[in-house]
Amino acid sequence: MRILFIANDLPNPIHPTKAVFNLQLVRALSRQHEVQAVSPVSWLDEWKSQKAGGPSLPAERRAVIDGITIHYPRYKYPPRILRSYYSLFYWYSVRRTVKSLIKSSPPDLVLAYWVHPDGDAAVRAAKMVGATSAVIVGGSDVQIITADRRRERCVVDVMQRIDAVITVNQDLKFKVQGRGVHPEKIYPWSQGIDHSIFFPRDRADARRKLGIPTAGNMLLWVGRMAPVKGLEVLLEACAILKTRGIEFRLDLVGEGPLRREVEADCARRGLTDIVHFAGPRDPAQLGDWYRAANLCVLSSWSEGLPNVLRESLACGTPFVASKVGGIGEIAGDHSRLFTRGKAADMADCIADSLAHPRPVTGQQSPSWDQSAAALIDILQPLTRRDGQTKAAPRFRQPSPWRPRQMIRSAMAAVLPSRRFIVRGPRDCSAVCLTFDDGPHPRITPQVLDILGEQNAKATFFVVGQRAAEHPELIRRIVREGHTLAHHTFVHADNPSQLSAAQLMEEIAKTDKVLRDIVAQPMPLFRPPHGKLSVAKLWALWRAGLAVVLWNRDPKDFAAADSAQLRAWFLENPLNSGDIVLMHDNAAVTPPVLEELIRSTRRAGLDFVTVDQWTSGSRPLPRPAEAS
Ligand SMILES: [Zn+2]
Repeated sequence: MRILFIANDLPNPIHPTKAVFNLQLVRALSRQHEVQAVSPVSWLDEWKSQKAGGPSLPAERRAVIDGITIHYPRYKYPPRILRSYYSLFYWYSVRRTVKSLIKSSPPDLVLAYWVHPDGDAAVRAAKMVGATSAVIVGGSDVQIITADRRRERCVVDVMQRIDAVITVNQDLKFKVQGRGVHPEKIYPWSQGIDHSIFFPRDRADARRKLGIPTAGNMLLWVGRMAPVKGLEVLLEACAILKTRGIEFRLDLVGEGPLRREVEADCARRGLTDIVHFAGPRDPAQLGDWYRAANLCVLSSWSEGLPNVLRESLACGTPFVASKVGGIGEIAGDHSRLFTRGKAADMADCIADSLAHPRPVTGQQSPSWDQSAAALIDILQPLTRRDGQTKAAPRFRQPSPWRPRQMIRSAMAAVLPSRRFIVRGPRDCSAVCLTFDDGPHPRITPQVLDILGEQNAKATFFVVGQRAAEHPELIRRIVREGHTLAHHTFVHADNPSQLSAAQLMEEIAKTDKVLRDIVAQPMPLFRPPHGKLSVAKLWALWRAGLAVVLWNRDPKDFAAADSAQLRAWFLENPLNSGDIVLMHDNAAVTPPVLEELIRSTRRAGLDFVTVDQWTSGSRPLPRPAEAS
């Protein structure tokens, strides 16, 4: 498979230890697949590094790390303001790089880490080539960002549009589901860890290597010194332990914007002799740090499933952590949880764990190779055409040039509506919703659910091949009173290359598939992209099929998001007799459907199926009858 990985969270020359776990994932994926990585670097980071005389990015803006080429476009955005527009800034920052990579090697899968803004870029990049899009939700996406209403909308919107949401634990799956994302497209998955670094070994040995006294209790904290980590809670707990006369040291591994404050806080609490600042460490050394400690401690206000704790357990060191995110899923009997923010609780847990240490047992995190394989197992079935790479980008936009519209209108004016229909009668007080290109295993059920709840009927122009893959959806469409219609067997990208005879073959094939599933005549046909020749039209009419086009096209398949589609319907309210073209394989469509149905009903219009306007057309003869 060809994979395009997009994440600002990857190591770069300025921050070589940033999000090493993503590099490990990319490395593991690239052992079996062709992987390209794009990691935009904040202009602010570059500027700060330059000002401080630190490292800078190479002129060609890419680097090879562990054999992986990572492209580093400059991420230009206004710091701290307009956050809900970061996805646009992000996309305009990476667009050129992504386009050139797609051109040289079109991916089957575009995978991002973080929903907003990275996930949005994955959706856009995937759309350019008809690839599958997926995002790994690390935790703070849905936990912190969504505290801001506007950014929450961005996060939820990306999760609606993307093909798959990968969560790093079960807890996050429920949280994502709670944001209205369809459960069928949320996949919990375990991140790997590097078992060559993180493994249990003698504690005294590790301490000798690090120059730490072999006797005495040692607590270890690893992370980025940022407000979310709740270091003030940890220091308060340490102060409480100290007043109780418990002897220990605390080592803080990592850097961050709060480093000075944390140092000042230590001094204020009289902890300078207990707390040691180890600074940032090479990930390869972290194993010894975990092995050296009696306990790993974490007092975060919010987490997904912290790598720090998984790595600690892999080294045989239990933890005391705040009960947030998915931490409870790995705590077992060996580790202890306290209510976040409660320093006294944390102190109790630490004291108890030091007095009664329990060995780490139970299931451990997978290796990165296992983890990458599990991810591919989830995503491979979702890639179109079974993971085969496509030679050329897929362009599906029908050209709305005017002459064709005029010809259609002229034909519709002279031909009987049971043969050729572009729109229904203007005085019928009804509209017709049509859904093309399905059935889609995830989106079609969403469309059907909403139509069912609103008691609105629609017409589904299904692709034969997809119908054969999802017969249960075909049965459901018919059972729920909707009209089933033809939309060729494979939905060729370039239908004009198909001869009239080939088209009829496709129709016969689709007809057989549909009849085998639901055994009823289907006299309606819509040509892919609305393209037809005179020969094809003639052949269709001879077979007794009515050709159904449309007069309203919101272009849902090209809409960047549901908001765009919603805006189109607001600007273009439906009128009596409209035939609306939509797609039940466009993820942006279901979120606007309910509102569309309600507002249309408020305008005094009802919903009918196309066959109510074309009655009189006769069914396709059975294959046996057709000589
Ligand atoms: Zn179509």
